[in-house]
Amino acid sequence: MAERLIPTGNCWCGCGCETERGSFFQSGHDKKAESALILVEYGSVPEFLAEHGYSPTGKNPLAALEEWKRAGGKRR
Ligand SMILES: [Zn+2]
Repeated sequence: MAERLIPTGNCWCGCGCETERGSFFQSGHDKKAESALILVEYGSVPEFLAEHGYSPTGKNPLAALEEWKRAGGKRR
C-alpha cells in the first residue's frame, strides 16, 4: 500500500509557490512537474511509455485507462 500523501501548502512542482488549502499544485503545475520528471527520468514520452511496456506493438495506454476506469480507478 502506497503512503498516503498530504498537501503541504507548497506546490509540489518545486516552483516555491504556496497552494490553496488541500491542493498539491498551483493550477497547471501538476503537468509541469509531470513533464519535467518524464524528460529528466526517461528522456521523452515515447521512452517513458516503452519503459512501461507501452508502444504501438505493446500495451495500449488508452485501453489500459479504460480497463482501469472499469475496475473502479484504483491504483494498481
Ligand atoms: Zn508549482
